[in-house]
Amino acid sequence: MSDTLSDKRKIKCAKKMRDIMTTYYLDAMTAEQNSKQVAWITSGGPVEPLVAMDIIPIYPENHGAMIGASKMGEDLCIKAEDMGYSSDLCSYARSDISCSIVKGGPIGGLPKPDMLICCNNICGTVLKWYEIQARLYNVPLFILDTPVCHTGYSPEIARYVRAQIDEYITFLEKVTKKKFDHDKMNRVGRLAFEGQQLWRKILNTTAHKPSPMSAFDAFFFLALIVTLRGTQVAVDFYKDLLKEMEQRIEDGISMVPNETYRLLWDNLPVWYRLKWLSTKFSDHNACLVADTYTSAWCSALNYIDEDNFIDSMAEAYTRIYLNIGVDQMADQVLDMIKFYDVNGFVMHSNRSCKPYSFGQMNIMKIIREKAGIPVLMIEADMVDPRNFSKSQVETRIDAFMEIVKQRKA
Ligand code: SF4
Repeated sequence: MSDTLSDKRKIKCAKKMRDIMTTYYLDAMTAEQNSKQVAWITSGGPVEPLVAMDIIPIYPENHGAMIGASKMGEDLCIKAEDMGYSSDLCSYARSDISCSIVKGGPIGGLPKPDMLICCNNICGTVLKWYEIQARLYNVPLFILDTPVCHTGYSPEIARYVRAQIDEYITFLEKVTKKKFDHDKMNRVGRLAFEGQQLWRKILNTTAHKPSPMSAFDAFFFLALIVTLRGTQVAVDFYKDLLKEMEQRIEDGISMVPNETYRLLWDNLPVWYRLKWLSTKFSDHNACLVADTYTSAWCSALNYIDEDNFIDSMAEAYTRIYLNIGVDQMADQVLDMIKFYDVNGFVMHSNRSCKPYSFGQMNIMKIIREKAGIPVLMIEADMVDPRNFSKSQVETRIDAFMEIVKQRKA
């Protein structure tokens, strides 16, 4: 690829996104001086009430991704193991727990929280992880319990989770000593809805052949819909990004030169190997056009009522990808295979993320039977590189791509 071509392929909005993230972290770091409060919240947690209360939400998992991408994960995970935590514990949790003590990582640790908000719609690990941090920082912890919807969303689950949303608001009023502003909540809810709609549209642009961006770009641009959901900043940014994607389609600019094969990715990214994996697939003229991870931040849109966000959020936050049954997950994957018209499915068996990885063998079987496309399983970990064998993954990708090529031919 010539330099000129490579410059042409670069997504211009990336710089703006870096600037927004820098401002966001600076605001959080200086929160105390500006009489603002900080809440640490799990990645699938309902952030909108925090935004409505002017509390700055901070995501230890986003921080974990930054630690992984800056290749600082191994050192921090070892430090957590030296503190007595098992190497089987999620590497986001390990790196966050040790970071709180040593103030390491790319930004010297996260700002001290005033409260912790933990929602177990993504996993059970977060419960113990947040209890540890609540003890360490001596701050109140709110737990939102969302039962797994193996087959559907029952009236009992609906009542149980909805009641906790009221408890959540009472908790925030108590910690901030402020009254909850329902009008502001409605405005924030609409912005959250709009942001997720834009995110979905952006991800959907990759159904175009060739794809204007890859899943590796989606992993990067995901940060705002996670951290700044419910804000005008996120909405404005995603409007610009969508415009840029549409322009790329019009101008025929693809992320992978000579895109010939289209693939779907499952599970979290391997943060410390993004560049290597992207080049590896691109060398085979293959583009990872979509993934099950970034799409999770718009997959519950169907359950949100933008005119009654507070009532509908119970269902939207309970029926997310990691909190549903394996059959439902497989159905979503099958829909994606069809929509993005992919030639193969790449599954990351992630040693850290048990809820994402446990059902993968079943999903693999269903996809092979119903979609009839080749499936590759690679073993790794999103932050801890000790669980990644470059030579083994390389051999598997090469062999998989041979099958993809033969099938297409
Ligand atoms: S186990 Fe998975 S879902 Fe839970 S915190 Fe770790 S990466 Fe996130």
